[in-house]
Amino acid sequence: MKILLVEDDAALGHAMSTSLNKAGYSVNWAHDGFEADVALHDFVYDAVILDLGLPRIDGFEVLKRMRARKVTAPVIILTARDDLDDRVRGLDLGADDYLTKPFKLPELEARLRAQIRRNNSILGSTIEYGPLVLNITDKMLIVNGETMPLSPREFSVLEMLLTRVGRVVSKDAIIDALSKWDEGVGNNAIEVYIHRIRKKLEPLGINVLTIRGLGYLLQKAQQ
Ligand code: CA
Repeated sequence: MKILLVEDDAALGHAMSTSLNKAGYSVNWAHDGFEADVALHDFVYDAVILDLGLPRIDGFEVLKRMRARKVTAPVIILTARDDLDDRVRGLDLGADDYLTKPFKLPELEARLRAQIRRNNSILGSTIEYGPLVLNITDKMLIVNGETMPLSPREFSVLEMLLTRVGRVVSKDAIIDALSKWDEGVGNNAIEVYIHRIRKKLEPLGINVLTIRGLGYLLQKAQQ
């Protein structure tokens, strides 16, 4: 599970990221709104913990921009204790839950688990694209009712492409998604996985285009 933590307070951010790491989450910590906005462009997160008062771009604007781009990750906002207006405004802009400072870390983790669970059940566990049905829960690719064999890494790469249909997926984002499997994954390895997936999908009328310098894009072949 990959979490984006957005917090400019060094001590609080450090405490949260350490505790979330211990709980088994992979945490990216953005120290201001601009870093958060960039991270939300480049990576897919399972949830976002968002402080509102931030340097450069404030939390409301980060939230507004990500929802405008249809980023659906659940967002928990962090607000000052008495600020009802902030809370309401955050929820209106698409936040899913809020915590008032100061809070206890176990409470943050409980809220996070609840949001991730809810989001996954809304999204469902399969993605369909043309003849492909990707079962996220069972890590299987079904084509016309038959299971198509994929290695775990090929599955992860294909999942990245299918959850971002219509968008270019950068090599860095793929490397990042694969880093949960053992050691680091290099550029060349990604090309090998893409090559294998391409060979499997082409006969089904689906192309994996290489967009030079940017990444990869899934596209149905022209009839
Ligand atoms: Ca702050």
